[in-house]
Amino acid sequence: MLLTKESFFSMFRFVALLWQENTSRLSEIDSRFGDGDHGVTIAKMAALILSHLNERQNESAKDFIESLGSGCMEVAGGSVGPLYGILLEGLAGPLSEDDTEINAATLKAMFSSARSALFEITKARVGDKTLMDVLIPATEAAENAPDDVSSILRAAAAAALQGLRETENQVAKFGRARNYGEKTLGTPDVGAVSTALLFKGFQRGIEERVH
Ligand SMILES: [Mg+2]
Repeated sequence: MLLTKESFFSMFRFVALLWQENTSRLSEIDSRFGDGDHGVTIAKMAALILSHLNERQNESAKDFIESLGSGCMEVAGGSVGPLYGILLEGLAGPLSEDDTEINAATLKAMFSSARSALFEITKARVGDKTLMDVLIPATEAAENAPDDVSSILRAAAAAALQGLRETENQVAKFGRARNYGEKTLGTPDVGAVSTALLFKGFQRGIEERVH
């Protein structure tokens, strides 16, 4: 199965919807050990996705993600916008301008490329209680999944959720939350929550396509 452009846009629509549904929860989690603005930042990025979906569906998948990525880079609210901007630009990396459908190998390469892009800007790895606890295992699951876009997105979403759950048992080592040390046990990392929603949205986007 190939990822059609319709399915590709549906993936992003589901991410935007899930992010919008969860803005209060994200800000509440962020308020425990951070400045409480994660939901606001995520809501701005969700709005950006929706405006892209309204205005840019005639663009290539590559241009769409790159434009979304550069828009996220400019979203105010700490490091979250730039982190997602770089993640999105990494996803766009393996795409060609003339790709109208995305095959399994390219989809896997997109996740690997996003992980490489993040590796260049953060030293956080698995166990440090950041969004990398979701991105790294989700990418590995995608790489090891059968060569089928649906299987890849399902495997990535499941590993993302598992990675997110593990952040509850970790002590924060990055960001403001690190100042709270062991008090962060029992609370998931908020960036891991929003990144797990990204992978969940990607999966639901192809399984329950909406327009
Ligand atoms: Mg914050």
